[in-house]
Amino acid sequence: MSIKEKFTDRYLDPYKLNLFLKGLRNLNDLLIIGNSEENRPIYGIKIGNGPIKVLLWSQMHGNETSTTKALCQLLELLENPAHEGLMTNLTFKIIPQLNPDGAVKYTRYNANNIDLNRDAVNLTQSESKALSKIFKEFKPDFCFNLHDQRTLYAAGKMGLPATISFLAPSGDPEGSISSSREVSMKIIAAINKSLQIDLPGQIGRYDDSFNINCVGDKFSSLAIPTILFEAGHFPNDYNRNVTANYVLKALIDAIKIISNKDYNNYTIDQYLNIPENSKDYSDLLITGVSIVDQGKVYQNQELVVNYKEVLSNSKVEFIPYMIDYSNSWTGLTHKTIEIESMEINNKIVFDKQKPLSQIQSLINY
Ligand SMILES: [Zn+2]
Repeated sequence: MSIKEKFTDRYLDPYKLNLFLKGLRNLNDLLIIGNSEENRPIYGIKIGNGPIKVLLWSQMHGNETSTTKALCQLLELLENPAHEGLMTNLTFKIIPQLNPDGAVKYTRYNANNIDLNRDAVNLTQSESKALSKIFKEFKPDFCFNLHDQRTLYAAGKMGLPATISFLAPSGDPEGSISSSREVSMKIIAAINKSLQIDLPGQIGRYDDSFNINCVGDKFSSLAIPTILFEAGHFPNDYNRNVTANYVLKALIDAIKIISNKDYNNYTIDQYLNIPENSKDYSDLLITGVSIVDQGKVYQNQELVVNYKEVLSNSKVEFIPYMIDYSNSWTGLTHKTIEIESMEINNKIVFDKQKPLSQIQSLINY
């Protein structure tokens, strides 16, 4: 069974991940680069011996597994001698799961409830120290900072979800385009051109406000070309397996582009023309609903619903919560249901705090 078939849930148990890493036959440089706050090992893999050094890390946020799944597919692919060419000029250090404690609990934060992506300067957490240490020792020429983003992002204003968004992080508060940031922008422009074939209109550009406590911004300030990936929503793919396949494609494109320096054929403008992420989506819109809100009844409303990701029996479930209601909702939604056609009570009590268990059965992912 390939890793693609094995890791299909949004939850990625560190124990299963580590078994997979230990089972890689040819990639024998499996290192423990540090330990988490709860003393779980943080694994890193060194691959290749080329002169260009590339550092990739994923799951700094424990509940962001899509790019980890893509990295596992990449590792499996690199094991195959048929793909040796991808490593010709490169040496990789890959950290598939920087925050194993958060991964166990499926939370953004680490065991001390710290967002590791706000700890790049102070390095108060052992996970941050491990990444910083490998950055200093390995001295990468390129960095890949791999994340998931929420389903609410559209790619610009074209009415399509941002299935993947990218960012060449600012290295200073002014957002200057240094020579290293220019390289990141050109690499993203090249990846975007390739991905648009499969995902037309579904690539976004992530918010570039500067924060030196964010790891990407910190490494960018040190003049290392850094690329942020934000894996996002593809229609009806809440487990993000389709998205993970596109992340893999983007990673392979990036590797080739760096290896043959093809990014020199792209421009900053091509990067800046990628539409910015826009917070336009809800997960679900239910139309024709009567709402009772503080004793008052509102007829024929549109109920706006988002899902909360909840870990249950080693699986992530998507639980619906109301975020708003309106008789003229103008936002985008990933799915619309006409309530009249459903055999459920069409009177839903407005309570933002409680899950809408009446509609749980309508959700498929
Ligand atoms: Zn993240």
